[in-house]
Amino acid sequence: MAPDSPNFTASTITARTGSAPTDGSTALERRHRVVVIGAGFGGVETVKSLADTPIDVVLVDANNFHTFQPLLYQVATAGLDADDIAYPVRGVVQRQHNVDVRFGRVTDIDLAARRLTLSDGPPIDYDELVVSAGAVTADYGIPGITEHAFGLKSLDDAVALRTHVLRQFERAAVDPSSIDSGTLNVVIAGGGPTGVELAGGYTELVSKVLRRDFPNLDVRRARIVLVEPTDRLLGAFHPKLSATARRALAHRGVEVVLGEMVAGYDGKFVELGGGERIPCTTLVWTAGVKAGPLAEMLAAQCVGPGGDLAAGLDRGGRVRVGDDLTLPGHPEVFVIGDLAGARDASGELYPQVAPVAIQGGRYVAGVIRGRLDGSTPPRFHYRDKGTMATIGRHDAVAQLPFGIRLSGPLGWLSWLALHLVMLIGFRNRVNVLVNWAWNYVTYDRASRLIVGEERRARDRAG
Ligand SMILES: Cc1cc2nc3c(=O)[nH]c(=O)nc-3n(C[C@H](O)[C@H](O)[C@H](O)COP(=O)(O)OP(=O)(O)OC[C@H]3O[C@@H](n4cnc5c(N)ncnc54)[C@H](O)[C@@H]3O)c2cc1C
Repeated sequence: MAPDSPNFTASTITARTGSAPTDGSTALERRHRVVVIGAGFGGVETVKSLADTPIDVVLVDANNFHTFQPLLYQVATAGLDADDIAYPVRGVVQRQHNVDVRFGRVTDIDLAARRLTLSDGPPIDYDELVVSAGAVTADYGIPGITEHAFGLKSLDDAVALRTHVLRQFERAAVDPSSIDSGTLNVVIAGGGPTGVELAGGYTELVSKVLRRDFPNLDVRRARIVLVEPTDRLLGAFHPKLSATARRALAHRGVEVVLGEMVAGYDGKFVELGGGERIPCTTLVWTAGVKAGPLAEMLAAQCVGPGGDLAAGLDRGGRVRVGDDLTLPGHPEVFVIGDLAGARDASGELYPQVAPVAIQGGRYVAGVIRGRLDGSTPPRFHYRDKGTMATIGRHDAVAQLPFGIRLSGPLGWLSWLALHLVMLIGFRNRVNVLVNWAWNYVTYDRASRLIVGEERRARDRAG
């Protein structure tokens, strides 16, 4: 059997392994090994779907926790604690006996040797590899974004943003004249779901909570500005829901600027394409993501030395994959989730959303299992079960199958229920539910701690 044949069986796989493993085992000693990079939505689903399969699974992540990204904005706006929306990776797979966890960042993937190099510790050999390493913030080369703006892709991002905003209010409290230079202003670039949710979250934080925390500060002078380059918010939603969201945000005091893009930021002024300059010490960049750095590493090896890297990459730097989510020429490597340039039967790229990653993970686990008994599954097909965005208390928009559209309290209740169900971990669900109930009844947002001050002071002292 050719080494890259997809017709793996348990016995041929064990005997076939090319290079000697570097982790102490020999090829003939160990079972078939599937290595999964990324304990996000796609990676965790792959691993869970491989339970009770006679193979060994190694789950590698640069963090020792899974992050529930859809609620990052709540951490950033002090509605939830960081550990309410994160769950230890080892806890996720604790009861699954064929899984080993490696905490470390993958720095190299050698497709020919079927080996991963990590920033720390020994390399890992694989028989099959699933790459679900997600996306990173893309600044599109706009001046000052990387240097001065805040992204919202990780727990660190969310906590840094929350800390920064709270610090700006403290600054304004001791020097109210700084409000003129934009200390209380928050500009959000990108009118997709994250931008809309953040804008709604900030209006509640400022008008209900910080107003009481800072009674001597005129918090009504805080501007929340949402900038979107197209002519409507929530471009993936029905135009009626976009209009609903815009009205609801405007009603809550958000300045919605459509048809304009952020052209630059120097940490003091946000410059819009039309020339307007908004004084502001907080710019949140939710306007774009691109595939993470492993995408280029995979594509470069597919196109070969001197090949055109672009040929291996799709829009947004995503890795081109086949109908079965495998890397061209490498049936033993799957790419899923935000990193994958997977397309539907009509050639449309699938969106970078959690259900695509989850369904991709379930699908590749099925392919891997199918190879053990010689079956070939049909192409990957994503079933879109709808999309939602919350605007704030009692208000969300939801677009569901069969043309069902919800908004207002009904949309909000569906949003709350869905996010509770999707969260990993019973403790997290309880914590989030309790926090939401507390916030709802008291109009409070308890997670407004400024952390890291001692370390900052030590760093400043050298
Ligand atoms: C703020 C925000 C809000 C969102 N809201 C929604 C929403 O409401 N609904 C929705 O459906 N989708 C939402 N999304 C998108 C959704 O979160 C992603 O589509 C989904 O997380 C993609 O899953 P994934 O498995 O591809 O990657 P991720 O979930 O991003 O996981 C990638 C994992 O890989 C790890 N990793 C990366 N590089 C390496 C490396 N070199 N070595 C080791 N580990 C590595 C990371 O630590 C991470 O754990 C949102 C995203 C963001 C950022």
